[in-house]
Amino acid sequence: MTLVLGLEGTAWNLSAALVSEERVIYETESTYKPSQGGIHPREAAQHHASELKNVVSSACKGAKEEGFSLQEITAIAFSQGPGMGPCLRTVATAARALSISLKIPLLGVNHCIAHIEIGRWRCRTKDPVVLYVSGANSQVLTYLSGRYRVVGETLDIGIGNALDKFARYLGLSHPGGPKIEELGLQGTKYTYMPYVVKGMDLSFSGLTTAAKDAINSHHTKTEDVCYSFQETAFAMLTEVTERAMAHCCKDELLLAGGVGANRRLQQMLQTMCDDRGASFYVPEAKYLKDNGSMIAYLGLLMLKSGETTPIEQSGVKPHYRPDDAIVTWRKNENFKN
Ligand code: AMP
Ligand code: MG
Repeated sequence: MTLVLGLEGTAWNLSAALVSEERVIYETESTYKPSQGGIHPREAAQHHASELKNVVSSACKGAKEEGFSLQEITAIAFSQGPGMGPCLRTVATAARALSISLKIPLLGVNHCIAHIEIGRWRCRTKDPVVLYVSGANSQVLTYLSGRYRVVGETLDIGIGNALDKFARYLGLSHPGGPKIEELGLQGTKYTYMPYVVKGMDLSFSGLTTAAKDAINSHHTKTEDVCYSFQETAFAMLTEVTERAMAHCCKDELLLAGGVGANRRLQQMLQTMCDDRGASFYVPEAKYLKDNGSMIAYLGLLMLKSGETTPIEQSGVKPHYRPDDAIVTWRKNENFKN
């Protein structure tokens, strides 16, 4: 049996999980909540540093109650990037220390690909186009010849950040996405928002500015602005995703990332997939947002394909792109592409 301990802490959520080939054995987390404003990288890293011991111990304790012992852990996986430098360094230091003291291999994992792989595992989808929408990232990806290729992405901020920024302007606490969703449900009147799709890429920062203007200068109802913001941003994402599916000849769509919890976004993507006769997959909410299980699971896939990360190559990569990582664990799959 292979048993991997995964550590996630790229931004706001510190999480540890133990995963085997069969299942997620135990996962724990501790969430950083900014006292005001958005995520402050140094404060988040301090949060992770002070919570790491508790989170790792309770994951191990939980696994013990499930009948597993520390000695059975085969490897330590950690989020090597992308993410906030101070947060990444804190978690990587803990991962290296555990790998050295337990004398087991270390696995530096690409956080974006971890989102994809846990989704493929949980939803049993084989070869999807992936829409990955989180705080910092918005990308459309698909697997082709040994890598996850980014076929479309935001040119500025992630959709989650765009929603969170607007929510902060409204005086709402972090994370703002779910609060905008609730307000948007009460909106009825569409107000103009910039729809910015350039080829396969997107831009969201103008939406945040337009939404602030609609409130400030045009006195539009908050609920109508939230509704219009969502309708515009999610239509942009749906358009690019549909084009990716058409051009790559793929008939499965997998949703990943925290913004994926949004029911209106899910509804638009479902409609698009229904119209194309494609299948749409959404993992359980706890696997959409940042979680330790996805890091442990991708670590397990990497380990089983013969990959490990030597300590001297375990430096963090705050700008680690998914298309920079070689996918060693899908070599034997036979695909039409
Ligand atoms: P992640 O970085 O993947 O953990 O996702 C965090 C982001 O997801 C934050 O920007 C949240 O505001 C956003 N988010 C979480 N739930 C929702 C929701 N229901 N609707 C829109 N955004 C959401
Ligand atoms: Mg994420």
